Order: sequence, then structure tokens, then C-alpha cells
Amino acid sequence: MLTDYHLHLRPDEEGTTAERYFTAENVDRYLAAAAEAGVEELGVSEHVYRFRQALDLWRHPLWEENAQDDLDAYCEFVQGTPLRLGVECDFVPGAEEGTAELLGARDFDYVVGSVHFLGEQAVDHPGWDVWEHSADPDEVWRRYFEALADCARSGLFDILAHPDLVKVWGRDRPLPQGELRRFYEPAVEAIAESGIAVEVSTAGLRKPIGELYPARGFAELCVEAGVPFALSSDAHLPEHVGFAYESAVGYLDDLGVGEICVFERRERRLAPLGSRVG
Ligand SMILES: [Zn+2]
Ligand SMILES: [Zn+2]
Repeated sequence: MLTDYHLHLRPDEEGTTAERYFTAENVDRYLAAAAEAGVEELGVSEHVYRFRQALDLWRHPLWEENAQDDLDAYCEFVQGTPLRLGVECDFVPGAEEGTAELLGARDFDYVVGSVHFLGEQAVDHPGWDVWEHSADPDEVWRRYFEALADCARSGLFDILAHPDLVKVWGRDRPLPQGELRRFYEPAVEAIAESGIAVEVSTAGLRKPIGELYPARGFAELCVEAGVPFALSSDAHLPEHVGFAYESAVGYLDDLGVGEICVFERRERRLAPLGSRVG
């Protein structure tokens, strides 16, 4: 079994309207790409902040700008396709109750939980760059992994997205010195306690860091703690479906991981890890 659950039907740009991208033709392009990559389980997890309902959780200016679509219309559209229904939902500290309500009111197959923001600034978003406010990598990494631990502990999500996203810029931003385990350990402890699945994402290979999420040291701690893995590309285009899965499958094989998570109606089971065709 190969899955691709963390997937977007459109790029994160202006003009990528629901009318243009939430269409049967666009879904067909993703399904064709999945078939070619040998991905059997395909789901879509649109960013929550692109829906008006997200403004009940947070009124960050970036969200205000992007919250144009209706979440229920999205759910209805996806349910009329062969795709599993997911959503990528930011963990918003203090909005746990509202988040639980928003998620619980809809029939998602799974929810991908993400940390992109530390306070008002983001680790991966130019224009809201956390590094413009703090040049101290130890502080930024510590805060990021604390937020990740809180995200896991919230119990709101099924899959923890791009677990070490803070590294996204690679050498373009300051990096902490020495062993990174000191950042990973408390986060993995929270992850193991929470029971959330950790995403292995090939998206990092398309970013300046040029490596998979999470880093090997992080993944090894997850394996030791018995944390299950989910497999995704974080595609924003059909050609990214199953992107670089030979790397991800090899990585999981190397770690001794033989099973990945499959989701339906927020129930999880483990399936044997497949191999990429072609
Ligand atoms: Zn994300
Ligand atoms: Zn994403």
C-alpha cells in the first residue's frame, strides 16, 4: 500500500479559486498521477485557512486574506469524488475548542495537523518570516518543537504534518549547532503519548533544505517510541502526487518500518508499505 493523504488541489497562490481547481477534471489529473505512481489511497487535505469558517479560530491577516471558500462546499465536492476527505488544519493555541467543533461537525476521513506559525510569524512563509524577528536558531527551534508537541497533545488531529518544518530554509536561515536530539526528544515524547501518526513527507525534497521530513534522528526516535507513520507528498500540483516516493519508501525500509497508516472516517489501520511502481 502506498498513500498520499497530505495533498492540495491547488497551489498556495492568489487566483487559485475553488471554481477553477475543485473540478472533476482537476481531480482526474490527480487520480491519473496517482495511478502512474502506484499510489492506491489518495486523499485531499486543503488548507483550513482558505475557508471562511477558519476565521472563527484565528484572525491572522494572512488568514483574513485567504479565507474565501466554504468548508462545507469543499467537503461536499470531495465526497462526490474517489478521494478521501481530509483537511490540513493549523494548531491554533487557545482555539482548541473551536477547532474540535469545526472538525467534529464534518465527516473527514482524517485531519492533518500542522504547525506553520509561532505566534504571528511563520517558519515557512515569506512576509511573515519568524527569522526577521529572531536570529537565534536555538530559540526558534525550541519554540517550534514545543508548538509541535502541543499540536500532538491537543488530540485534535490524526496525522502530524511535516514534523520538522522549521528546517525548511536549510542554510538560507540560521541553524542550531550540535545534536538536534535535544529539540526532538520532548516532541517525540508528546507524540508517542498522544497516539498521533507522524507524516513522512517528500515535500522537503522540493524545498531549500532538500531532504525528507522528518530528519532521520527524529524518525528514529519515533520508531523507538512505536509511533506509526503516514506517507504523503504535500502535492500542490498533480505532478507532485507520489513525488520522490522511491526515497520515502527506501527511508522507511531503512528504518525498519514495514507498515503505514490508512484512514477512513477518522479510524486508522496499518497496511503493509508498498513499493513505488515505474
Ligand atoms: Zn503545511
Ligand atoms: Zn500542505
